[in-house]
Amino acid sequence: MTIKDNLNQVITQCEQGSIASGRKPKDIQLIVVSKTFDAEAIMPTLEAGHRVFGENKVQEAGLKWPALKEKFSDVELHLIGPLQSNKTAEAVTIFDVIHTVDREKIAKTLAKEMKAQNKYPKLLVQVNTGSEPQKSGIEPQHAVAFVKLCQDKYGLEIKGFMCIPPADENPGTHFALLKKIAEEVELPILSMGMSSDFETAIEMGATHVRVGSAIFGAR
Ligand SMILES: *Cc1c(COP(=O)(O)O)cnc(C)c1O
Repeated sequence: MTIKDNLNQVITQCEQGSIASGRKPKDIQLIVVSKTFDAEAIMPTLEAGHRVFGENKVQEAGLKWPALKEKFSDVELHLIGPLQSNKTAEAVTIFDVIHTVDREKIAKTLAKEMKAQNKYPKLLVQVNTGSEPQKSGIEPQHAVAFVKLCQDKYGLEIKGFMCIPPADENPGTHFALLKKIAEEVELPILSMGMSSDFETAIEMGATHVRVGSAIFGAR
């Protein structure tokens, strides 16, 4: 199977999953996660017409994507990895969507940078649904208050939530928790599901799935 075959297979699985769940395929966005893969590996997916990509490091994305965007200017880039405040300016420049707003310092820096650059990426709040100490994300019980803080104190428009379930647990429980939080604050975007569990995530309401290794192979 080539990278293009893998991409087509994942697209088909997303479509079938959405129909099986009574949803419309166009309501589920596949984010192709290209972290650690170089331009040569990414090119077949661009040539196949895919335009939405995820990277987990600001610096890596900054090295890789400007050249690719010269040829494919309508690419939409998503930051799915943790954000440090000293990288916020560059993140605002490079990314169209940031999935990992998770603390006040980042909210504050983002607000300042977005205004300075007059560029407004879409923002999602990452929730640490498993309360894992090594993982980024706001604790689930603080998620609603944090969204309100982002909105009221910093004027940020938060569009939804992202989570990465613990590797050794049933992801469905975590997807359900994220959905419940999103319903509480009436936000539409749910970024959840990776190579191993994106079909479950679609069943449980994901609007964005982030798939890497199922397309590019192991990292
Ligand atoms: C790497 C990564 C993915 C993709 O994981 P795969 O298992 O390769 O599909 C999704 N989301 C985040 C936040 C990641 O860092």
